[in-house]
Amino acid sequence: MPRPIKVRHVSCYPEANYFKPRGIPFVELEEIVLSTDELEAVRLADLECLYQEQAAGRMNISRQTFGNIVRSAHRKIADALVNGKALKIQGGVIAVEERRFQCQDCQHEWRLPFGTGRPMDCPQCQGANVFRALSNREPARRGKNDPNRERCRRAAG
Ligand SMILES: [Zn+2]
Repeated sequence: MPRPIKVRHVSCYPEANYFKPRGIPFVELEEIVLSTDELEAVRLADLECLYQEQAAGRMNISRQTFGNIVRSAHRKIADALVNGKALKIQGGVIAVEERRFQCQDCQHEWRLPFGTGRPMDCPQCQGANVFRALSNREPARRGKNDPNRERCRRAAG
């Protein structure tokens, strides 16, 4: 029996999820699927320039697994760029880390993924008294019970 895949933490969804070379019709296009966790690994390693150990910690996976993911991602991206293939970002065993916000005026509570900036006003009443929600049942400490590391949703596939 294969070992169950550990859920990988990612801090944001990509802005775009499909990249295609110009001038090649879809029917002739070969498509490569890059999973969301592979993209996150590349983001942490190549954009945030974290050491593998740190990056693995951020994704809640072992350093070896991180190395495998990043290697696989690099190969796919290189294949797409060099051979003119489309790159589709999809799926992966992931949990998105989200932040919770609360409106002081109407008590409305909502969640936003990391990396999207702080909301200016409440989506419900447009009030500006918006603050980061830290409720009593979720103590504000780092680690397992950190409210900022909640598992919120899984990507399909
Ligand atoms: Zn409100």
